[in-house]
Amino acid sequence: MGLVIDLDTCVGCHACVVACKGWNTENYGAPLADTDAYGAEPVGSFLNRIHSYEVTPQVGPAQTVHFPKSCLHCEDAPCVTVCPTGASYKRVEDGIVLVNESDCIGCGLCAWACPYGAREMDPVEKVMKKCTLCVDRIYNDNLPEVDQVPACVRTCPAGARHFGDLGDAESDVSKLVAERGGFDLMPEQGTKPVNQYLPPRPRDAWVAEEEDDTQIDVLAPFLAPVTDQPKGFLGWLDKTLERL
Ligand code: SF4
Ligand code: SF4
Repeated sequence: MGLVIDLDTCVGCHACVVACKGWNTENYGAPLADTDAYGAEPVGSFLNRIHSYEVTPQVGPAQTVHFPKSCLHCEDAPCVTVCPTGASYKRVEDGIVLVNESDCIGCGLCAWACPYGAREMDPVEKVMKKCTLCVDRIYNDNLPEVDQVPACVRTCPAGARHFGDLGDAESDVSKLVAERGGFDLMPEQGTKPVNQYLPPRPRDAWVAEEEDDTQIDVLAPFLAPVTDQPKGFLGWLDKTLERL
């Protein structure tokens, strides 16, 4: 199971960030910490964050890309193999990567090993936290069927977040990935992330201005699948994430 995140339609509103924080504070384990929330140096745990960037392709105008980031539930998850207590684990039945908080000693090795910065040390609880894909929603028969999806997916007003079985080639999310050229984030890391991203498309205004339909693929060269070294948008994203 996993998420498909559409970088073309995400508007960076942070609704998913707030919904994630709310659900995982009110309904899952210990609340996600917030210290000095209205003070000079606020500190808190967020399992989902949005980064916004301006991208300038070689041809055409610059455009803003809003990039949501949470755990990608990798097939070969280094956060799991590095964990000295076995607190981090990947479920066989649905591939969700979780942390057993009672076994976590807060050593931080998994955060060091995760190439995406997707782990959050809770500064109050002193245990590692991460996206659970809302395991307490997606199998919860006490919720209406429409709510049996991760909180971020349920709340996104732009429909930029999709949830489903990416291991099933016939699922809606797998078809979406195939149709839109979904890609792995930083595939050179070898983690085989389950979550997929859909690339941003050039803005309509610029296409109309050019009156040339072939220009619709202006970003395609930058978003082509990466083999050895990431290039273009992915390369830039890779470098930016490394600096976080
Ligand atoms: Fe682990 Fe990071 Fe992959 Fe999530 S994104 S499974 S925390 S390595
Ligand atoms: Fe983007 Fe949807 Fe999250 Fe808003 S709620 S930031 S549109 S993914």
